[in-house]
Amino acid sequence: MPFRGYSSIIGYQYAHSAFSLSYHCGHCNRDVSGLITAKYDTGEGEVRYLVCTNCGDGSVVTKEGVLYPPSLIGQNLEGLPQDIEMAYLEARRCFSVKAYTACELICRKILMHVAVEKKAKEGESFENYIKHLEALGYVTPPMKPWVDLIRTHGNISTHKLETADPQRAESTLMFTTELLRIIYEMEHKADKYTKKTTTH
Ligand SMILES: [Zn+2]
Repeated sequence: MPFRGYSSIIGYQYAHSAFSLSYHCGHCNRDVSGLITAKYDTGEGEVRYLVCTNCGDGSVVTKEGVLYPPSLIGQNLEGLPQDIEMAYLEARRCFSVKAYTACELICRKILMHVAVEKKAKEGESFENYIKHLEALGYVTPPMKPWVDLIRTHGNISTHKLETADPQRAESTLMFTTELLRIIYEMEHKADKYTKKTTTH
């Protein structure tokens, strides 16, 4: 069905409870009651344009009822350095839009971000980055096999033509989450309690 002109778009100038929709915002990762600011009936289903009442960003529900951007896959982490937080968010966004190869490439790149943040030299091999983190005790012997999977999955996505499969990309993202949790979030949370304890 072709576009039927501006006059067929119903826009809502004022917020009204009848024009709200509960959804999970893909920008701020919250369950919200968003505002439907406009809708358009394609004849095969309604397209709804939404504004999040938490972060103010826009989303759209297609005529098939699919929400864009979709809910962010993966877990929120606290205490990440800013560039690592941005890279982790990008990996989660890639997975959420089914860009599995891109997700694995960024997860591997996160290894570099972490190693360089822990004073490794930029431009080293990914194997050396893991060795660097091992030498500093951030990657312990039981962690080594799964941390190495982040590297090897990223390698496959970089150098092979085969498409990353969703399960493998999901595991790569999950291992990356756990690595970041152990290296940054645990220390960040412990800091809160350490400070509390010392003030007593
Ligand atoms: Zn939002």
